[in-house]
Amino acid sequence: MSYQVLAPESANTEAPAEKHSITGFTLEQLTEAFCKMGKESYRAKQVFQWIYQKHATSFSEMSNISKDMRAYLEENYSIPQPSLVATQTSEEDGTQKFLFKIAGDKTVETVLIPGTDRLTQCVSSQVGCALACRFCNTGDMGLVRNLETHEIIDQVLQASRELGHDHKGALGHRLSNIVFMGMGEPFHNFEAMIDAVNILTCDFGFGLGGRRITVSTSGLVDKIEEFGNRTNANLAISLNATTDEMRSEIMPINKKWNLTDLMEACRNYPMAPRRRITFEYVMLGGLNDTVDDAKRMIKLLKGVAAKINLIPYNPHPASPYKRPQLETVYKMQRYFLDRGMNCTVRISKGKDILAACGQLRSKEAEKHLHRHYFEKRPVVG
Ligand code: SAH
Ligand code: SF4
Repeated sequence: MSYQVLAPESANTEAPAEKHSITGFTLEQLTEAFCKMGKESYRAKQVFQWIYQKHATSFSEMSNISKDMRAYLEENYSIPQPSLVATQTSEEDGTQKFLFKIAGDKTVETVLIPGTDRLTQCVSSQVGCALACRFCNTGDMGLVRNLETHEIIDQVLQASRELGHDHKGALGHRLSNIVFMGMGEPFHNFEAMIDAVNILTCDFGFGLGGRRITVSTSGLVDKIEEFGNRTNANLAISLNATTDEMRSEIMPINKKWNLTDLMEACRNYPMAPRRRITFEYVMLGGLNDTVDDAKRMIKLLKGVAAKINLIPYNPHPASPYKRPQLETVYKMQRYFLDRGMNCTVRISKGKDILAACGQLRSKEAEKHLHRHYFEKRPVVG
């Protein structure tokens, strides 16, 4: 593992308050804003291409845009470049974690996960999270605040900028997939998340296909259908238990919407043919990893185009749970596969730098980072 602390906590690269962060606008919103000011509507497409495809960091380099228009942009908008407070690279697998400074003296974490055929970025949607799942380090923080649309998008842009001029990750790939599985509950910051997905999929923006973007929710049932109607991204549901008793114990949201409510929303989810809902299942050693759980899960998922993603619990300081035996994890996977279900196991990457699922923790992690806290953690499997 290598780490670098790059900017003092006091460093401030925030835009002056009166300027709008241009990365917070969808193409439609920017077009409308320009039209209102009597500017040509195609300017918005040009600006998008400069920012998201050519990675421009100043309006002055936008050479096909008139001088007047550039002056107008300069006066009214900024291109945020959040300063990098710290970065860490996993020695085990090249996973990179970035801690960016954002407004209000807050920090936000994002992780780049290299795969053999892809580079996946895990983005945060909030600082902290209100939902207090008992196994999650972010949940332990409580909600600090929602991220603005541009603060979600800037994680993606700035991480790519940090990769250098070719924007390639450890195994030589450019950004290909985005998962909203960092800090926060994306459905609790719904409009900002929807706009961010829109910018990621826009042909003039990042141009990522909807299939390459996955938004994970702990199960805010009232927003599930709307998500399907307003985006073409993939939906992932953190199921994590097969009885209401267990789910309510580890995920307080289950007291508001129980498993019956959740599964009904999934059955009614408007989904394109050949798509599936991913059901994430964090396996807590000795608690929810039995054959009975597997049997109940099959019943729960009946009638839903589903794929199951088993996630062995990633321990973090001050958590009461145990990582399951890997043998138990693969036994459960085999149980599903043998019954014709689609099931994968997510062995989280970047465990040596606390970058794995459920381990992101912003300020707290930052403190640890500054204290040179991160040491190699024992890795099971
Ligand atoms: N709030 C959203 C998205 C962020 S969490 C949600 O809960 O779905 C992303 C995934 O990490 C979720 O499936 C969550 O259950 C899982 N997770 C949280 N803490 C974990 C931990 N300590 N080990 C393994 N997975 C964890
Ligand atoms: Fe929030 Fe998701 Fe963590 Fe639950 S698992 S506390 S919803 S980030």
